[in-house]
Amino acid sequence: MREIVVTVSHMRLLAVYAVLLIGVFGAPSSLANPHNFDTWLANFRLDALRSGISEETLRSALDGVKPRPKVVRKDRSQAEFTQSYWRYMERVNKRRIDKGKELLIKYSPLLKRVQARYGVQPRFLIAFWGLESNYGSTFGGHPVIPSLATLAYDNRRAKFFRVQLLAALKILDRGDITLDRMIGSWAGAMGHVQFIPSTYESYAVDFDGDGRRDIWHSMADVFASAANYLSSLGWNDKETWGREVRLPADFDFSQASLSVRKPLYDWQQAGVRRITGGKLPNVNFKTSLLIPAGHRGPAFAVYGNFRRIMRWNRSILYAISVGHLSDRFIGLDPISVRRPANDKRVSVYMVKEIQARLNQRGFKAGKPDGVIGKGSRAAIRAFQKMKNVPADGYVTADLLELLRKE
Ligand code: CA
Repeated sequence: MREIVVTVSHMRLLAVYAVLLIGVFGAPSSLANPHNFDTWLANFRLDALRSGISEETLRSALDGVKPRPKVVRKDRSQAEFTQSYWRYMERVNKRRIDKGKELLIKYSPLLKRVQARYGVQPRFLIAFWGLESNYGSTFGGHPVIPSLATLAYDNRRAKFFRVQLLAALKILDRGDITLDRMIGSWAGAMGHVQFIPSTYESYAVDFDGDGRRDIWHSMADVFASAANYLSSLGWNDKETWGREVRLPADFDFSQASLSVRKPLYDWQQAGVRRITGGKLPNVNFKTSLLIPAGHRGPAFAVYGNFRRIMRWNRSILYAISVGHLSDRFIGLDPISVRRPANDKRVSVYMVKEIQARLNQRGFKAGKPDGVIGKGSRAAIRAFQKMKNVPADGYVTADLLELLRKE
């Protein structure tokens, strides 16, 4: 799941670059015919040569490359269930917390130098590392070049992956890493912090000074590359990411959204408190409130750095898990609101049924596609208001029951 999320987020960052290249490269044909693949690869190779990659690199990297059906299957697979906050947060577990604490101490001198240079707190770098590759224990196990060649040839996201394949070849051409050691996820996210090749091209740094940017084997390069990327996104190491908060009983849940941003003291005025009940810090941080598991789950106040985590990976749940994991390394409390005992998973089919039933009743939920966007959320809220239940816009099995009873 992580790999899909990472790819999608990086896609957005690269959208402009990808669009620029649409005109340059033609559309690929279907994966079904291996002969077509070879023809496509031969053409691609000419383009790569023209873009300045050496013959020698192209020969060693592309000779005999075959499409990998497994990679296409991964790319096409669709989740059966909606992403649940409770399940997602299981990755912030005792093992990952304990290991991270240990590594924070082990790499402390290096991390301090990286912070001095790039302005990112060590605990966040360890948290990204822990969530991206489980502290380097898994890079994904896929050879990057054949995986990217497969996806660049396949129709679905060809333009994006063609850009990635070219970037990966440039990395090899420069000698930063050898072909056999260029290992990543099925979608080409590489090394300890799972950079896709274009992110690597823009942000990876050689911090240990050996002349190569090695995000597979050099922890100095790994931490500095991640910090350089975050710094370029505007990271502020004088601030944290956010905190769990307590909402007032009469809270208007439509205010819990990334599109609503107010200074933290305005939320204090509105009755929002620390989870312990105390006053919020008296600062003007632009803050949004989030209820990622609906009104029965925890509420979070999130600051500017939270949005920067979401530019690394645009999932709200990913960003909360990075922030919370980093908190646990320095002894802050677990999230106080626990998973309800009767929490039921919500399938994509259930979401589609909810959308269809809302539409039937005149609440405009949009096309029943199983994805909850702005329109669907507003429709759910309107229906909830009518039924006099908390209007959190959140999809649950109970919501579906309520709609079926209508
Ligand atoms: Ca290096």
